[in-house]
Amino acid sequence: MSDFLISALAGLDPYVPGEQPQGREYVKLNTNESPFPPSPRVLDALNREEVSRLNLYSDPTALPLRRAIADVYDLSPDNVFCGNGSDEVLGLSFLAFADAAHPVTFPAVSYGFYRVFANLFRVPTNAVPLRDDFTVPVEPFLGTGGMVVLANPNAPTGISLPLAEVERIVRANPDHIVLVDEAYVDFGGESALPLLASCPNLLIVRTFSKSRSLAGARLGYALANAPVIDDLNRVRCSFHPYNINRLSMLAGIEAMRDTAYFESCVQSVVRQRGETAAELRGLGFSMTDSRANFLFAAHPALTARGYYEALKARGVLIRCWDDPALREHVRITIGTREQMRRLVLETRAILSERTIS
Ligand SMILES: *Cc1c(COP(=O)(O)O)cnc(C)c1O
Repeated sequence: MSDFLISALAGLDPYVPGEQPQGREYVKLNTNESPFPPSPRVLDALNREEVSRLNLYSDPTALPLRRAIADVYDLSPDNVFCGNGSDEVLGLSFLAFADAAHPVTFPAVSYGFYRVFANLFRVPTNAVPLRDDFTVPVEPFLGTGGMVVLANPNAPTGISLPLAEVERIVRANPDHIVLVDEAYVDFGGESALPLLASCPNLLIVRTFSKSRSLAGARLGYALANAPVIDDLNRVRCSFHPYNINRLSMLAGIEAMRDTAYFESCVQSVVRQRGETAAELRGLGFSMTDSRANFLFAAHPALTARGYYEALKARGVLIRCWDDPALREHVRITIGTREQMRRLVLETRAILSERTIS
C-alpha cells in the first residue's frame, strides 16, 4: 500500500477471482465458464474488417446489442442495460440504488462480490444465514428497508428459489430495488422475467459469461422497467460511457441471436450435470439439487481442501473455500463429456488411494 491511498479504502477486502492459469495444463472446472467455444457466428463477426475499426469509439448506447437482447425476451431496448461483465452491472446497481442509510440484504452464502461492492460503496450489509440445507429463507428478505440482492439460482449452492418466493420478496420491498442475479438461470432456474411488467422495483441481472460462452468478452446486462434502466445509464455515463467495446458488442449480438447453438450448449451442460451427479453419488458424494452449471458436493471421507489438492495434482482444477459455511464442499463446474469423465476417473483414483493407505 502506498502513502497515497485514501484512508477510507485502506481496509478494502477485494474480490479474489478463481485461479486463471493461462496455459492449458488443467482440465479447468473452477470458474463456471462454458466449456464450449463461442457460437461460430461470433467467430465470423470478429473479422479483420471489424478489428480495423478499433480506432473509432464504440457506440455508447450499445443499441444494437440491447436490441438483440430485447428481441430474445420480447422486451424493448429501453428495458435493457449492458455492462462490461455483469460484475459492472452489479457495481453500478449498488452505486445507483444503495446508500449508507439503507442496509443491503443478501444471503450470507452467495456470490462474494455483493459484500465487496457494499464495502467499496460503504453500504451497511445484512447477510442472512442460509438454512442447514443451504436453502434461502424468505422471511428475512421481506420489508428490509433497503436494496435486496439475490442470486437465483444461488451460488455456489446451485439451489433455485421458486418464482412465487421471489415474487413475495419483490412485492414486500416496494420502496427498494430487488436485484435478482440470474447468472445461472439458463441451466434450469426459474426466471423473474414474468414479474417485470408488474414490479417497478425488480432488476434482473444476467451474464454472457456462463451460458453464452463469452466470459472473456466481458458482457453482462440488466432487464428492468425503463426508469430503472435510465437510472443505471445516468450512473454509467458518469463513469464509463464506452463500457462495451466494439468487438464484444459484435460478439454479444451474434451470441444472442444464435439460439440453436445456445440451446445445444445448455442442453449438453444439463445432461452432463445429471450424469456427473449420478456418478459422484455412486462414489459416496452428497450434493445439492443444482440448477446451475456446477455441482456443490461433499464426501464423508475427503476434506474439500484435500480433494481439491489431489485433483489439482492430477491436472483437474475445481474450487474450494476457507469460509466455515462452505469448508466441507467443493464446487465443480460442468464441462464437456470428456472433461467430466476425467474428473470421475481421477476422483475414483483418489478415493481408492485413500482406502489403500
Ligand atoms: C459469474 C457470476 C457473475 C459475474 O459474471 P461476469 O458477467 O463474468 O462479470 C455474476 N454473478 C454471479 C452469481 C456469477 O456466478
